Amino acid sequence: MNFIVTIDGPSSSGKSTLAKRLAKKLSILHIDSGSIYRAVTLYALQNNLLLNGKFLMKKLINILSMSSISLKENSNGIFKMHINNLDVENKIRGSKVSKHVSEIAKHKKIRDFVLKIQRDISKNKSIVMDGRDIGSFVFPDADVKFYIDSSIKTRSIRRFNQLKQFEKKLSIDEVKYDLLSRDKIDKNRKNSPLIIPENSLFINNDNRSIDDVLNIMLDHVKSIINKKVS
Ligand code: C5P
Repeated sequence: MNFIVTIDGPSSSGKSTLAKRLAKKLSILHIDSGSIYRAVTLYALQNNLLLNGKFLMKKLINILSMSSISLKENSNGIFKMHINNLDVENKIRGSKVSKHVSEIAKHKKIRDFVLKIQRDISKNKSIVMDGRDIGSFVFPDADVKFYIDSSIKTRSIRRFNQLKQFEKKLSIDEVKYDLLSRDKIDKNRKNSPLIIPENSLFINNDNRSIDDVLNIMLDHVKSIINKKVS
């Protein structure tokens, strides 16, 4: 039986790490949906479509329709983001893309473009997908749903530690500001905003280790899936 597990939550709440580890434990695929929005944003920046702080959306939609933005599975079963067949996995993680991604992700046409990639890649497979609207909009009928959160302080420290090796000049205040700006756009946008999906298990992981949270998630998935198959 194929099944879908969704994990939503704000940036740096730990959801991608948990999604990756949960998928591994369950021996199913993990798809990080934020990476698709990040690739679209990188592509917009590479094509100089940011003018006076605004993206040229019509042009972006137009060039996206002629390009290939795809997640390709490597020999270890891990999906890597590609633009026109080039691996852009490292480039999409930097603060420049982070700074602009929510602005791009709020547009309906962009969300429709990403939705198609998300649904195509998940067809006839068991998956764990993480993002902002996965349990509420992309897979409202998913078998198991989670919402992962933590305080802005914990999230800022996590993100700062991820970025500091690559971006020496970055301060923790800048990281905090970026996370709060993205939360504001992601939670308040008109099209599939970040919400706690119905029937999801909410976990705040501020005072819990990754292993503790992972065990809670595994038990929850197993209890639901076992009921479905029995
Ligand atoms: O998860 P990550 O921080 O990499 O996501 C980058 C951005 O992509 C988010 O801040 C959000 O604006 C957008 N996103 C989204 N819907 C998703 C996943 C990501 O709008 N399902």
